[in-house]
Amino acid sequence: MDPHHARYPFFDGARAAVGEADISPPALIAEDAPAVERGLERVERALMEGTVAPEEPRRWSDREELLSYPIARILVSLVDTPAAVDKYAAAEAATAHERFSADFQTDDDGLQSTSSPTVSLDRVLREFDLSGAVRPERTDPTDRRRGGRDPTHYWVGVGAYLTLASADWGERWRLVNRELATGAVRVTNDELHRLLEEAVRRRVADGLPFEVRGNSAGDEIAEALDDEVESLRNLLNDHDVAGRTDVDAVVPGLFPPCMKALLQRAQSGESLPAHSEFSLVSFLVAFGMDATEVATLLGADGDDADRIETRVTYLADAEGSQFAPPSCASMQSYGDCVNRDERCETISHPLSYYTSAVRDAGEVRDWREAVGE
Ligand code: SF4
Repeated sequence: MDPHHARYPFFDGARAAVGEADISPPALIAEDAPAVERGLERVERALMEGTVAPEEPRRWSDREELLSYPIARILVSLVDTPAAVDKYAAAEAATAHERFSADFQTDDDGLQSTSSPTVSLDRVLREFDLSGAVRPERTDPTDRRRGGRDPTHYWVGVGAYLTLASADWGERWRLVNRELATGAVRVTNDELHRLLEEAVRRRVADGLPFEVRGNSAGDEIAEALDDEVESLRNLLNDHDVAGRTDVDAVVPGLFPPCMKALLQRAQSGESLPAHSEFSLVSFLVAFGMDATEVATLLGADGDDADRIETRVTYLADAEGSQFAPPSCASMQSYGDCVNRDERCETISHPLSYYTSAVRDAGEVRDWREAVGE
């Protein structure tokens, strides 16, 4: 098996490798094979955290990684909501972006990793039929530092650029704001990677959701994945429907006990598990805190602040609406529902707790005012 396919399971060759595997996705599901658990993790992390990377990479073989991809696609199709497809495809693309950016760097440095095979930029361009549309800007041959390698800019054919770039990404992506020459648009290295991420997102989203049910084999698959699909739907409901709030003041003293506890742990320098950090950050974002405010409140700096900024960006989707944090039921299942008090008996969502506490308190002082003084 080509180990690249485990890291890039949406490559055409990976699809063929799944077809040639000695066991089909339906058979894996029937057997409840490890790839099914990894497929579920893939979708859960996509919905919760915007990544499909495994929490414990060493736990899964290349084969399980590869086979988890078609299983994740079946799960997303069974969940069957536009939000699930959008978030899943975006997360596969964001993970691929992280991986190929690291790979290209390794490739440019001339380093070969024996444990984790890398792909070259040429291979990714070929994969998406972009070889003819992208050319590196010629580097100065006298620049010994780069030695003709690792150009800082590329020229992308206008047609490919317009197909992949979106005006939603900001003003700088609009063609009128770009440098153009002989039918090509000048982009930085990072911008080229962003365009490739979009090519991945489109490939992953293509064909999703598909009809799983409709024949006896499909019905059996759907039935076998009933529990997984229900848990994914609950995750989406937690994040997209429940617990909206019209409170926009930040009053940590009125946070529900669960969030006070997570906040204290973060402020004392503890590295929270990913799901707990997601719960806390999504709670803070729900009443309008931005990335800097969240990082300041948590006392995060350096890499921690960068990670939190990425999480906040992910939590505010393109339309500016936000994911709500998990419900009390989900917090309980994570083990993060602690120190329950009387108000907890009257609500089912941490945001409802906070809304009710702020309303009962009447006049409140926003933490941001105190910090700004
Ligand atoms: S009941 Fe809800 S609001 Fe109260 S501590 Fe538990 S999760 Fe938080």
